[in-house]
Amino acid sequence: MKNMKEKKLNGTVIVTYRCNARCTMCNRYKCPSKPEEEISIETIKKLPKMYFTNITGGEPFIREDLQDVVEELYKKSDRIVISTNGFFTDRIIAMAKRFPNIGIRISIEGLEDTNNEIRGLKDGYKRGYETLKKLKEMGMKDVGFGMTVQDKNAPDLVPLYNISNEMDMEFATASLHNSFYFVEAKNIIHDRPMVAQNFENLVNELLNSKSPKKWFRAYFNHGLINYVYGQKRLLPCDMAFDTFFIDPYGDVMPCNGTKDKEVMGNLNECATWEELWNSAQAEEVRFKVRHCDRQCWMIGSVSPAMHKYIWKPAWWVLTHKLKFWTNKKYSMYENKIVRDLRDGKVTKEELDKCSTCDMNCVANNGLSEASKEQLKNKSGEEIVDADIEKQMNKKD
Ligand code: SF4
Ligand code: SF4
Repeated sequence: MKNMKEKKLNGTVIVTYRCNARCTMCNRYKCPSKPEEEISIETIKKLPKMYFTNITGGEPFIREDLQDVVEELYKKSDRIVISTNGFFTDRIIAMAKRFPNIGIRISIEGLEDTNNEIRGLKDGYKRGYETLKKLKEMGMKDVGFGMTVQDKNAPDLVPLYNISNEMDMEFATASLHNSFYFVEAKNIIHDRPMVAQNFENLVNELLNSKSPKKWFRAYFNHGLINYVYGQKRLLPCDMAFDTFFIDPYGDVMPCNGTKDKEVMGNLNECATWEELWNSAQAEEVRFKVRHCDRQCWMIGSVSPAMHKYIWKPAWWVLTHKLKFWTNKKYSMYENKIVRDLRDGKVTKEELDKCSTCDMNCVANNGLSEASKEQLKNKSGEEIVDADIEKQMNKKD
């Protein structure tokens, strides 16, 4: 742990487990945290210096004190990006006015009908789209879409990318994952070749652009094809070494991809960050990360790896740009496993077994005992809906 004190980390702060959406690929909305238990400014003060901080949830803008959280995090972060479902337009705009250098990613799961079907938010697409447009008109630079690709929305991948381009915005992709964080164990891609074909189209669009950043995004999406086929990650996973997640209860974790919550320590209970980060418990979790077989490919764990092992994506970009100049496009069949499925050397069922999908598993939700207690009499949806209504009435 030499030089750990001076080293800046990559951190994700899950400010709440409350969420007002009803996404088909995530059950977090059924398992909210209790507001009074959610990470306090006092705990945030103990976080280390970070070169990048992602603020997420649940839906982070449900927290009425989110601006205070951001103010505190700005004291220790070089860059902050908030991931949101885009529902609380006024709060997002107010945040952007106060912190114009902040990044905002709004999750949009496809074109209008597809998005609204997957996300289950009334007028979700319109609200998200209008919010993004307003942010852009305000002159914000770090604004973009985030899309989680599944069978239902894969055909919308390139059309949505084109919209983001027209609006001069970032376009972040992901695919289905299972974990305690999503309170989900049954997510799976069924038609892998169709989904891969849509990723292939996107990779070629990205490689064809003039932006080096997009060429590296092409590599990330190439890695998503590999992930969808259940293969070994293209880059090592170093979560918990220079990257961490902290949840609403102050539990510090390596990532959000584990089946059950893996806790390195609780920051509410530890006097300092160093005490937690250098503890035996944290070391145990690092050992588990080293032996983890879940092969996630989410930007949170891949982006630090792409920086650390830069030569690998850089070589891929270089060879594919060279190919492009000789009119040879990227093909999903560059991945052996994609050829093997096409050629009948492996079956769909065999690939299903390589995924993290477990139809018999009851997903652990990672909630505190008090948060679980409140679910005995009411559903998570009822609790959060009442909570939001109260917030809105207060405002009027
Ligand atoms: S994916 Fe995000 S917006 Fe959708 S239910 Fe889960 S936490 Fe909420
Ligand atoms: S592969 Fe990495 S990000 Fe995924 S669960 Fe394992 S340790 Fe976490």
